[in-house]
Amino acid sequence: MFKENFHTHTKYCDGKNTVEEMVESAYKLGFTALGFSGHSYLDFACDWCMTREDTEKYKNEINTFKQQYKGKMDIYCGTELDCYSDTVNPADFDFTIGSVHYIKAGNEYLPVDSSIDEQKKAADKYFGGSLIEYAVAYFDIVANVLDMTGADIIGHFDLVTKFNENDIYFNTKDTRYISAWKKAVDKLIEYKKPFEINTGAIARGVRKTPYPAMDIAKYIDSKGGYFIVTSDCHNCNMLDFGFEEAYSNYSDFRIVSFSDIMRNK
Ligand SMILES: [Zn+2]
Ligand SMILES: [Zn+2]
Repeated sequence: MFKENFHTHTKYCDGKNTVEEMVESAYKLGFTALGFSGHSYLDFACDWCMTREDTEKYKNEINTFKQQYKGKMDIYCGTELDCYSDTVNPADFDFTIGSVHYIKAGNEYLPVDSSIDEQKKAADKYFGGSLIEYAVAYFDIVANVLDMTGADIIGHFDLVTKFNENDIYFNTKDTRYISAWKKAVDKLIEYKKPFEINTGAIARGVRKTPYPAMDIAKYIDSKGGYFIVTSDCHNCNMLDFGFEEAYSNYSDFRIVSFSDIMRNK
């Protein structure tokens, strides 16, 4: 198991803790590296993203800790780039995660991970009431997430299943669903960037298994793809939440240290 986490949020966006609390908690856990990935600024209404002003403060504060912890723990200042954050420059950060949190339909941005009711409402309005077609539209965007963001990491690949544990709302064995995620994997695999094994929804008590689902992980692996483990951490007590299980359940696949990737960047 790698003692690191490159998907973490602070009070600058929707996390519960300060940068300092996160750093101290990571250090106590014996982490060798900690990457911050505050939600990037979005032009349209957003209460869970960093403002432009806060983004500067965020970078400065992380830099202070980076210096302070030199030789003890590597600290990186990254951002979780939403695919529609096209006014944010990835080069301003040490690393970036590329994530799809919205489906754009007409002039509307439909939130993917806020609630099942929002998903259903969006499916009713734009996808003939079909959550499968809604999910297909989601994966069409995911397929382009690296084109849109230029990110270093593919974030929570099948976030659209956040509320769908045990397929209670839609059938993930539906051939339309499967071919949509396969198409997205086939496109993304070309970039040779890591996919996340993301335990965030388990930490939030919404799911029992990480993203991506095991059949998707198997397919990514069969295509030569590889993974990093993160906890999409919004609480300093959950920096390594679900890591043991994730590393053991996904042990058939190639899991790498993102610190190694950063050192060679
Ligand atoms: Zn996210
Ligand atoms: Zn996140």
